[in-house]
Amino acid sequence: MAKTESGERPRPPLSGEPLALDLVNTTFIQGGLRGSLVDALAVPADLDLWLEEHAQALPPEPARPAAGPATASHLEEFRRLREALRELSRACVAEEPYGEQPVAVVNRAARLAVSWPEIGDGAAGGTAAGAADGPVVRWAESDPLMVLLGAVAVSGVELLAGPGRHGVRACAAPGCILYFVKSHRRREWCTPACGNRVRVARHHRQRRS
Ligand SMILES: [Zn+2]
Repeated sequence: MAKTESGERPRPPLSGEPLALDLVNTTFIQGGLRGSLVDALAVPADLDLWLEEHAQALPPEPARPAAGPATASHLEEFRRLREALRELSRACVAEEPYGEQPVAVVNRAARLAVSWPEIGDGAAGGTAAGAADGPVVRWAESDPLMVLLGAVAVSGVELLAGPGRHGVRACAAPGCILYFVKSHRRREWCTPACGNRVRVARHHRQRRS
């Protein structure tokens, strides 16, 4: 994993939203209204870093370190899902019907997260070395990174088709393109930084007039 390089990669200003929105928010504007668009998923190592940062929210199995580094094709899949989730988030906020194409992309990816519990080899008798405590999780998809793609898609399905969709907001600060879930009644902005930016701009306008 390209840990040395990734330390210098630009990080999204907002994290900790549902996985689907955290993925959408990997494109963001740095530098406010006259800022530039940054893509935090530009190279495969960026995807490794993002998955590492979201390990807590992702299914623990398949184990990430064993999965090996992300490839260009994994990155392409995550970016395709991101594009679909961004479009659906936009439609959600605008209270428009969801487009067929992005829905198909998300639904197809969600199927990659299919898993079921099995009785593991070491379970019988319970004393065998390496006997796991509890069932073994099996995945229909053999590529661990594609399973994680599926998990992000499932997060999108649950958010954008569930009751939580009414809480999805697009940050209204000029020059911000981030989405968040309105976690409390008074939350207006994606981050306090956006709120500050808007307040400062408002103050300058008032002083000029
Ligand atoms: Zn914002």
